[in-house]
Amino acid sequence: MSCAEILEAVARGRADDPSVANHLAVCPDCRARAESARALGRYLADPVMWEEPSPVLADRVLSAIDTESGRKDRPPRWWKLAGAVAVLCALVAGGWTWANRPDWTVELAPGPSAPQAGGVVKGWNQPHGTRMVLEVWGLDPADDGSYYELWLTAPDGRHVSAGTFRDSGRFEVVAGVRRSDFPRIWVTLEPADDDPGPTSRTVLDLPDA
Ligand SMILES: [Zn+2]
Repeated sequence: MSCAEILEAVARGRADDPSVANHLAVCPDCRARAESARALGRYLADPVMWEEPSPVLADRVLSAIDTESGRKDRPPRWWKLAGAVAVLCALVAGGWTWANRPDWTVELAPGPSAPQAGGVVKGWNQPHGTRMVLEVWGLDPADDGSYYELWLTAPDGRHVSAGTFRDSGRFEVVAGVRRSDFPRIWVTLEPADDDPGPTSRTVLDLPDA
C-alpha cells in the first residue's frame, strides 16, 4: 500500500488493520500525518456531512471529483466520500511536504581527500540558526582516531562546526549561525586532536569554493 492509501485507511478508521499498523510502525511520515487523517475521517464521517456537506470544503472536493471522473452515473455516496478523504489526505500530505520544504539546497562536490564522495545539504533558516539535513555518500568509514566534520565558514574565515560523523549516511544537524553569515558549507576529515579548527583534508565542498 502506498502512503496515500495508508492515510486513507487511517481516515476510514482502519488504523488497526495489520497492513496499516505495520506500515505506520515503519513510516515516520505517515505516523506524523495520521492524526490529521483521523481528524479528517471524523469530520467527513459526521452524519451532518452526508445530508449537508459543508459548502466550503466538502462540496468543492466532491464536485472536483465528479468533474474529474466525468461520470454521469452517481456512485454510492460512501465511495464518493472515500474519494474525498483520499483527495483531502493528499492535500494534507502535500501541505506537510510544502511546510517541510527546505529554504535552500546545495550539492557538495568531492574534495581532494575523497574523489569518489558526494553530498547534498538541505537547510531551513531558523530565527537563531540553521537546521540542516546532510546526506553523504561514497565516504569510507573514518578510522579510529578520526572523524568527518561539517563546517560553516564566513567570508572573513571564521569557522563554526555543525557536527561530526563517522561514515556515509544521512544526518540532521543544527548550527547556531545563519547560512547568510556563514555561506560556505564543507566537510573535512579530522584527526581526534585538540585542534578546534578544520584540517586541510577536505572531503566535500561547495563546487565554487
Ligand atoms: Zn507511509
